[in-house]
Amino acid sequence: MLVSATEMLKKAKAGHYAVGQFNINNLEWTKAILQTAQELNSPVILGVSEGAGKYMCGYKTVVGMVNGMMEELNITVPVALHLDHGSYDHCYKCLEAGFSSIMFDGSHYPIDENVAKTTELVKAAHDKGVSIEAEVGSIGGEEDGVVGMGECADPKECKAIADLGVDFLAAGIGNIHGKYPANWQGLSFETLDAIQQLTGDLPLVLHGGTGIPADMIKKAISLGVAKINVNTECQLSFAAATRKYIEEGKDNQGKGYDPRKLLAPGFEAIKATVKEKMELFGSVGKA
Ligand SMILES: [Zn+2]
Repeated sequence: MLVSATEMLKKAKAGHYAVGQFNINNLEWTKAILQTAQELNSPVILGVSEGAGKYMCGYKTVVGMVNGMMEELNITVPVALHLDHGSYDHCYKCLEAGFSSIMFDGSHYPIDENVAKTTELVKAAHDKGVSIEAEVGSIGGEEDGVVGMGECADPKECKAIADLGVDFLAAGIGNIHGKYPANWQGLSFETLDAIQQLTGDLPLVLHGGTGIPADMIKKAISLGVAKINVNTECQLSFAAATRKYIEEGKDNQGKGYDPRKLLAPGFEAIKATVKEKMELFGSVGKA
Protein backbone atom coordinates (compact mmCIF):
# COMPACT_ATOMS: atom_id res chain seq x y z
CA MET A 1 0.00 0.00 0.00
CA LEU A 2 1.29 3.45 -0.89
CA VAL A 3 2.15 5.76 2.02
CA SER A 4 2.58 9.50 2.22
CA ALA A 5 6.17 10.70 2.29
CA THR A 6 5.78 12.61 5.56
CA GLU A 7 6.81 9.94 8.05
CA MET A 8 9.69 8.54 5.99
CA LEU A 9 11.15 12.01 5.54
CA LYS A 10 10.75 13.01 9.20
CA LYS A 11 12.61 9.82 10.10
CA ALA A 12 15.27 10.58 7.49
CA LYS A 13 15.83 14.10 8.75
CA ALA A 14 16.08 12.92 12.36
CA GLY A 15 18.40 10.07 11.31
CA HIS A 16 20.63 12.26 9.09
CA TYR A 17 20.07 10.44 5.83
CA ALA A 18 18.00 11.17 2.73
CA VAL A 19 15.33 9.24 0.83
CA GLY A 20 15.73 9.17 -2.95
CA GLN A 21 12.97 10.26 -5.28
CA PHE A 22 13.47 8.38 -8.51
CA ASN A 23 11.33 9.45 -11.45
CA ILE A 24 9.52 6.76 -13.40
CA ASN A 25 8.73 6.61 -17.11
CA ASN A 26 7.31 3.16 -17.71
CA LEU A 27 6.98 -0.36 -16.32
CA GLU A 28 10.71 -1.19 -16.49
CA TRP A 29 11.64 1.97 -14.57
CA THR A 30 9.06 1.34 -11.89
CA LYS A 31 9.98 -2.32 -11.46
CA ALA A 32 13.72 -1.54 -11.31
CA ILE A 33 13.25 1.08 -8.59
CA LEU A 34 10.76 -0.92 -6.51
CA GLN A 35 12.86 -4.10 -6.63
CA THR A 36 16.03 -2.23 -5.66
CA ALA A 37 14.30 -0.53 -2.74
CA GLN A 38 13.00 -3.89 -1.52
CA GLU A 39 16.38 -5.61 -1.92
CA LEU A 40 18.10 -2.84 0.03
CA ASN A 41 15.30 -2.46 2.58
CA SER A 42 15.08 1.24 1.79
CA PRO A 43 12.12 3.62 1.74
CA VAL A 44 11.59 5.15 -1.70
CA ILE A 45 9.64 7.86 -3.49
CA LEU A 46 8.50 7.30 -7.07
CA GLY A 47 8.41 10.66 -8.86
CA VAL A 48 6.06 11.33 -11.77
CA SER A 49 6.39 14.53 -13.78
CA GLU A 50 3.36 15.84 -15.65
CA GLY A 51 5.03 14.87 -18.92
CA ALA A 52 5.76 11.33 -17.73
CA GLY A 53 2.22 11.05 -16.38
CA LYS A 54 0.84 11.94 -19.79
CA TYR A 55 3.28 9.53 -21.47
CA MET A 56 2.09 6.71 -19.21
CA CYS A 57 -1.53 7.39 -20.27
CA GLY A 58 -2.54 9.45 -17.25
CA TYR A 59 -2.32 9.35 -13.47
CA LYS A 60 -4.92 6.62 -13.00
CA THR A 61 -2.84 4.29 -15.18
CA VAL A 62 0.22 5.10 -13.07
CA VAL A 63 -1.58 4.45 -9.79
CA GLY A 64 -2.95 1.15 -11.12
CA MET A 65 0.46 0.02 -12.34
CA VAL A 66 2.28 0.93 -9.12
CA ASN A 67 -0.34 -0.58 -6.81
CA GLY A 68 -0.52 -3.77 -8.87
CA MET A 69 3.24 -4.10 -9.00
CA MET A 70 3.65 -3.58 -5.27
CA GLU A 71 1.19 -6.36 -4.60
CA GLU A 72 2.54 -8.80 -7.19
CA LEU A 73 6.19 -8.20 -6.24
CA ASN A 74 5.47 -8.26 -2.50
CA ILE A 75 6.97 -4.83 -1.93
CA THR A 76 6.84 -4.14 1.80
CA VAL A 77 9.18 -1.13 2.15
CA PRO A 78 7.51 2.31 2.42
CA VAL A 79 6.72 3.64 -1.07
CA ALA A 80 5.27 7.06 -1.85
CA LEU A 81 3.91 7.94 -5.29
CA HIS A 82 4.65 11.61 -5.79
CA LEU A 83 3.72 14.20 -8.41
CA ASP A 84 6.90 16.05 -9.36
CA HIS A 85 6.65 19.80 -10.13
CA GLY A 86 2.88 19.76 -10.23
CA SER A 87 0.82 22.65 -11.49
CA TYR A 88 -2.27 23.67 -9.52
CA ASP A 89 -4.66 21.66 -11.75
CA HIS A 90 -2.51 18.55 -11.85
CA CYS A 91 -2.17 18.49 -8.06
CA TYR A 92 -5.94 18.03 -7.92
CA LYS A 93 -5.84 15.38 -10.66
CA CYS A 94 -3.28 13.36 -8.69
CA LEU A 95 -5.22 13.70 -5.44
CA GLU A 96 -8.20 12.29 -7.26
CA ALA A 97 -6.24 9.50 -8.96
CA GLY A 98 -4.76 8.14 -5.72
CA PHE A 99 -1.23 9.55 -5.48
CA SER A 100 0.10 9.54 -1.91
CA SER A 101 2.21 12.69 -2.28
CA ILE A 102 2.23 15.81 -4.44
CA MET A 103 4.52 18.70 -5.17
CA PHE A 104 3.00 22.05 -5.94
CA ASP A 105 5.49 24.08 -7.90
CA GLY A 106 4.24 27.61 -7.39
CA SER A 107 7.73 29.07 -7.65
CA HIS A 108 6.86 30.98 -10.82
CA TYR A 109 3.95 32.79 -9.16
CA PRO A 110 4.42 36.02 -7.20
CA ILE A 111 4.93 35.04 -3.55
CA ASP A 112 1.39 36.13 -2.52
CA GLU A 113 -0.21 33.90 -5.12
CA ASN A 114 2.16 31.02 -4.30
CA VAL A 115 1.06 31.40 -0.64
CA ALA A 116 -2.67 31.43 -1.48
CA LYS A 117 -2.52 28.39 -3.78
CA THR A 118 -0.19 26.46 -1.49
CA THR A 119 -2.47 27.06 1.49
CA GLU A 120 -5.44 25.69 -0.41
CA LEU A 121 -3.55 22.64 -1.67
CA VAL A 122 -2.10 21.85 1.78
CA LYS A 123 -5.65 21.49 3.08
CA ALA A 124 -6.81 19.44 0.08
CA ALA A 125 -3.82 17.08 0.37
CA HIS A 126 -4.00 16.65 4.14
CA ASP A 127 -7.74 15.96 3.99
CA LYS A 128 -6.76 12.85 2.02
CA GLY A 129 -3.70 11.93 4.10
CA VAL A 130 -1.43 12.94 1.22
CA SER A 131 1.88 14.73 1.76
CA ILE A 132 2.74 17.94 -0.05
CA GLU A 133 6.00 19.55 -1.13
CA ALA A 134 6.34 23.19 -2.09
CA GLU A 135 9.12 25.03 -3.85
CA VAL A 136 10.69 28.40 -3.21
CA GLY A 137 13.20 29.90 -5.61
CA SER A 138 13.29 28.42 -9.06
CA ILE A 139 15.57 25.46 -9.65
CA GLY A 140 17.77 25.81 -12.70
CA GLY A 141 17.84 23.79 -15.87
CA GLU A 142 14.86 22.53 -17.76
CA GLU A 143 12.08 20.24 -16.61
CA ASP A 144 9.09 19.68 -18.85
CA GLY A 145 9.67 22.95 -20.62
CA VAL A 146 10.01 25.03 -17.44
CA VAL A 147 13.40 26.71 -17.48
CA GLY A 148 14.93 28.20 -14.34
CA MET A 149 18.30 29.84 -13.72
CA GLY A 150 19.45 28.05 -10.54
CA GLU A 151 18.92 30.95 -8.16
CA CYS A 152 19.15 30.74 -4.39
CA ALA A 153 15.90 30.91 -2.45
CA ASP A 154 15.24 33.68 0.07
CA PRO A 155 15.31 31.96 3.50
CA LYS A 156 12.50 34.25 4.76
CA GLU A 157 10.27 33.21 1.87
CA CYS A 158 11.11 29.58 2.70
CA LYS A 159 10.01 30.16 6.27
CA ALA A 160 6.75 31.80 5.07
CA ILE A 161 5.92 28.82 2.83
CA ALA A 162 7.02 26.29 5.49
CA ASP A 163 4.58 27.90 7.95
CA LEU A 164 1.67 27.09 5.60
CA GLY A 165 1.92 23.46 6.71
CA VAL A 166 3.76 21.86 3.80
CA ASP A 167 5.41 18.57 4.74
CA PHE A 168 8.73 19.19 3.00
CA LEU A 169 10.24 22.04 1.10
CA ALA A 170 12.33 22.33 -2.06
CA ALA A 171 14.55 25.39 -2.02
CA GLY A 172 16.87 26.51 -4.77
CA ILE A 173 20.47 26.49 -3.51
CA GLY A 174 22.24 26.69 -6.86
CA ASN A 175 21.11 23.22 -7.92
CA ILE A 176 19.82 22.63 -11.44
CA HIS A 177 17.94 19.92 -13.33
CA GLY A 178 19.71 17.81 -15.93
CA LYS A 179 23.47 17.66 -16.47
CA TYR A 180 25.57 20.24 -14.64
CA PRO A 181 27.62 22.57 -16.86
CA ALA A 182 31.42 22.58 -16.49
CA ASN A 183 31.37 26.10 -15.02
CA TRP A 184 28.78 25.28 -12.32
CA GLN A 185 29.41 27.18 -9.08
CA GLY A 186 28.37 24.34 -6.72
CA LEU A 187 25.70 24.29 -4.03
CA SER A 188 25.28 27.29 -1.72
CA PHE A 189 25.63 25.74 1.72
CA GLU A 190 25.36 29.20 3.24
CA THR A 191 21.83 29.49 1.81
CA LEU A 192 20.95 25.94 2.87
CA ASP A 193 22.15 26.57 6.42
CA ALA A 194 20.19 29.84 6.64
CA ILE A 195 17.03 28.06 5.40
CA GLN A 196 17.41 25.22 7.87
CA GLN A 197 17.89 27.61 10.77
CA LEU A 198 14.55 29.24 9.97
CA THR A 199 12.59 26.11 9.05
CA GLY A 200 13.79 23.84 11.89
CA ASP A 201 12.73 20.19 11.65
CA LEU A 202 11.08 20.52 8.24
CA PRO A 203 12.70 18.07 5.79
CA LEU A 204 14.34 19.91 2.88
CA VAL A 205 14.45 18.65 -0.69
CA LEU A 206 17.32 18.77 -3.15
CA HIS A 207 16.25 18.67 -6.79
CA GLY A 208 18.62 17.95 -9.65
CA GLY A 209 20.59 15.21 -7.88
CA THR A 210 22.33 14.07 -11.08
CA GLY A 211 26.02 14.89 -11.09
CA ILE A 212 26.29 16.65 -7.74
CA PRO A 213 29.58 15.38 -6.23
CA ALA A 214 29.21 12.89 -3.37
CA ASP A 215 30.86 15.17 -0.80
CA MET A 216 28.36 17.96 -1.59
CA ILE A 217 25.47 15.49 -1.27
CA LYS A 218 26.71 14.41 2.16
CA LYS A 219 27.15 17.99 3.32
CA ALA A 220 23.65 18.87 2.09
CA ILE A 221 22.23 15.94 4.09
CA SER A 222 24.10 17.13 7.19
CA LEU A 223 22.39 20.53 6.72
CA GLY A 224 18.85 19.16 6.65
CA VAL A 225 18.26 17.74 3.17
CA ALA A 226 16.13 14.60 3.62
CA LYS A 227 14.87 14.01 0.06
CA ILE A 228 17.00 14.01 -3.07
CA ASN A 229 15.51 13.85 -6.55
CA VAL A 230 17.23 11.72 -9.17
CA ASN A 231 15.93 11.64 -12.70
CA THR A 232 18.49 12.31 -15.42
CA GLU A 233 21.05 9.86 -14.04
CA CYS A 234 18.74 6.87 -14.50
CA GLN A 235 17.96 8.07 -18.02
CA LEU A 236 21.66 8.31 -18.87
CA SER A 237 22.51 4.87 -17.48
CA PHE A 238 19.50 3.28 -19.22
CA ALA A 239 20.46 4.89 -22.54
CA ALA A 240 24.13 3.89 -22.27
CA ALA A 241 23.32 0.23 -21.51
CA THR A 242 20.74 0.05 -24.31
CA ARG A 243 23.14 1.68 -26.76
CA LYS A 244 25.85 -0.87 -25.87
CA TYR A 245 23.47 -3.81 -26.41
CA ILE A 246 22.50 -2.57 -29.86
CA GLU A 247 25.97 -1.47 -30.92
CA GLU A 248 27.27 -4.91 -30.04
CA GLY A 249 24.63 -6.31 -32.41
CA LYS A 250 22.96 -8.35 -29.68
CA ASP A 251 19.50 -7.49 -30.94
CA ASN A 252 20.39 -9.41 -34.11
CA GLN A 253 21.57 -12.51 -32.30
CA GLY A 254 18.93 -15.23 -31.78
CA LYS A 255 15.84 -13.61 -30.30
CA GLY A 256 17.80 -10.62 -29.02
CA TYR A 257 15.13 -8.37 -30.53
CA ASP A 258 12.63 -9.60 -27.92
CA PRO A 259 11.82 -6.45 -25.94
CA ARG A 260 12.24 -8.38 -22.71
CA LYS A 261 15.85 -9.03 -23.76
CA LEU A 262 16.44 -5.69 -25.47
CA LEU A 263 15.38 -3.67 -22.41
CA ALA A 264 17.09 -5.92 -19.85
CA PRO A 265 20.53 -4.22 -19.82
CA GLY A 266 18.89 -0.79 -19.37
CA PHE A 267 16.74 -2.20 -16.58
CA GLU A 268 19.82 -3.56 -14.79
CA ALA A 269 21.58 -0.22 -15.32
CA ILE A 270 18.73 1.65 -13.60
CA LYS A 271 18.93 -0.81 -10.71
CA ALA A 272 22.66 -0.18 -10.36
CA THR A 273 22.17 3.60 -10.39
CA VAL A 274 19.39 3.46 -7.80
CA LYS A 275 21.50 1.21 -5.57
CA GLU A 276 24.47 3.55 -5.80
CA LYS A 277 22.26 6.53 -4.87
CA MET A 278 20.55 4.76 -1.95
CA GLU A 279 23.97 3.85 -0.56
CA LEU A 280 25.21 7.42 -0.97
CA PHE A 281 22.06 8.92 0.58
CA GLY A 282 22.25 6.50 3.55
CA SER A 283 18.71 5.10 3.19
CA VAL A 284 19.78 1.43 2.93
CA GLY A 285 18.26 -0.62 5.77
CA LYS A 286 16.04 2.27 6.91
CA ALA A 287 12.68 0.90 5.75
ZN1 LIG B 1 12.84 19.25 -9.72
